[in-house]
Amino acid sequence: MAQPTRAEVIEAELQRILPIVGKGLVVLVVGLFLLYLSTIAAWMPFFVGVIVTVAGIGIAGYGGWQYLQLNNLPSYRALCPYCDQPTLFLAPPTEDYTCEHCHRVVAIEGGQVVPPLVLVCRHCGAPQKVSPRAKMFICDNCNGQNDLKPARPGVAAATAGAGEESFEYQTYDLVLVDAGHNTEEVLEILCTILAAPRDHCRGILKELPMVILVDLPRRKADSYRRMLREAGATAEVHPTGQYRPPARQGM
Ligand SMILES: [Zn+2]
Ligand SMILES: [Zn+2]
Repeated sequence: MAQPTRAEVIEAELQRILPIVGKGLVVLVVGLFLLYLSTIAAWMPFFVGVIVTVAGIGIAGYGGWQYLQLNNLPSYRALCPYCDQPTLFLAPPTEDYTCEHCHRVVAIEGGQVVPPLVLVCRHCGAPQKVSPRAKMFICDNCNGQNDLKPARPGVAAATAGAGEESFEYQTYDLVLVDAGHNTEEVLEILCTILAAPRDHCRGILKELPMVILVDLPRRKADSYRRMLREAGATAEVHPTGQYRPPARQGM
């Protein structure tokens, strides 16, 4: 745990303090019993009961004093830029933290909160505050999932309040790796999804693996991949620009 919240520090301290108080109370009860015993049994000296009782009070009191000290822990209110609720720390956070209220990651850079990006939901068009660390976000309005491109330098420039909206959606490339045995059927599918003449597609099949479509939405890329796989071909979906063909011998 990088930077515990104040509540987490207090909880950890209580885990340590409460057993001390508990042991003190047990010793105290034993001491009181010994005191009682000394009044009815001649073999039990009175002072033993006194010592054990005082020891019990001392241990429980020590634990209680430590418990009271928890109130003196420093407190820093870190306001969440997404839900405006405070999360308490002992000191201003220096690292990213997760808001206790909305569970979004609040990005911290140089001791400052990085303002959220405002992105428009691809499904319903509602603007959403998104952590600059997020790789995807679920729209509060329609629950639609939005994939984001990996953060690049400069993306953080389009922040809340800048009045600008960023559209950094992740797109995907479709890679045909191998046509399999059923090349005629794969050829048909290829011509359909590329809207290209047969000869052109036949040429592609000789050059595999090849990126056959770029900048597709995830769903579209996946459905094309499924069509190709059902025809026995091997197809892959990669984030745009990230596919690297295997090194060929002699190159
Ligand atoms: Zn929050
Ligand atoms: Zn939406």
